[in-house]
Amino acid sequence: MDFETKLIQNIAAAQKIDRNVLLMEVCGTHTMSIFKHGIKSVLPENIKLVSGPGCPVCVTPPQYIDQAVFLAESEETIICTFGDMMRVPGEETTLENSRAQGADIRVIYSPMDCLEIAEKNPHKRVVLLAVGFETTSPVIGITIEQADRKSLDNLFVLSGLKRLFPALHTLLDSGELNINGLICPGHVSSISGEGPYRFIPEKHGIPCVISGFGSADILMGIYMLVLQIAENRAVVENAYRRAGTVEGNSKALDIIRRVFNEVDDSWRGLGVVPGSGLDLADVFRHRDARSAYYLERPVWTGDGACSCGDIIKGIKVPSDCELFGNVCTPENPVGACMISGEGTCAAYYRYTADR
Ligand code: SF4
Repeated sequence: MDFETKLIQNIAAAQKIDRNVLLMEVCGTHTMSIFKHGIKSVLPENIKLVSGPGCPVCVTPPQYIDQAVFLAESEETIICTFGDMMRVPGEETTLENSRAQGADIRVIYSPMDCLEIAEKNPHKRVVLLAVGFETTSPVIGITIEQADRKSLDNLFVLSGLKRLFPALHTLLDSGELNINGLICPGHVSSISGEGPYRFIPEKHGIPCVISGFGSADILMGIYMLVLQIAENRAVVENAYRRAGTVEGNSKALDIIRRVFNEVDDSWRGLGVVPGSGLDLADVFRHRDARSAYYLERPVWTGDGACSCGDIIKGIKVPSDCELFGNVCTPENPVGACMISGEGTCAAYYRYTADR
């Protein structure tokens, strides 16, 4: 019997729980892996999974895209972005459309690519679109410090960087969710450590297990959660010790502290979450694109007929959206959750017949 089969049997055996159990996978990478490996289909009937707010592209408000398009259409500006952002709709258009109309928008594979682009284009402003969570922020921070060391005065950052933990505070405080356990992202945890999760069992009585991203990793995380629930325990446990320590990555956390300030930020679905965004610290203000172009931080004002906001909060699933699979498809996406490689709608569309 292989390890995964044994885990599936253990999950079934451990659930001496005579009620339904709802577990949230916080992270979009987990969502994709769960669908790809068919994990929902091997769980006992009373154990359900729901997706959470852990896809950075999905939680970025469309007004951020509007700002990026505005900058892209400014004279002498080059925009650098990860590919996932190209098709995400703003309120008016997308970066892809803007590029088709002549804007200089370049897809990068690492934020460090921007250093070379800035070096080669000294008479242009190069703006890096920085979207991501705790895993992305350190490498953006290193890029900013490198730009200073190289005296690249033309490199700027439009920060949409977010901190996951304040969003979890807001989500759990909202009372809209009725979940029994959290599958927590291993990669964020390898930076943050385990400490930031402790409020979840202590304040909300909800167990947490930090998990990796392979099928066995996720099944192990579910097994450990189910055991805690069956035994009436609620603590933070780590099924991903191979990638991080209890304290997290002190070097990465130091970079984040040096380069950024925590600010209130607006999330799709959640609205303004206190302390959930990262802006450039005062010492790096000269690289802040919003200061250079006189822009305010974007504010989410709703998504119209698209239900991404409720899906991010775990209170709806894609098939609850009347646009899913007919109006909204990967070829003709309406919302970010259908575009992002970590989006819940994209995962449902790709891996289920529920459309
Ligand atoms: Fe939004 Fe499309 Fe998902 Fe509906 S199916 S919630 S329109 S992304």
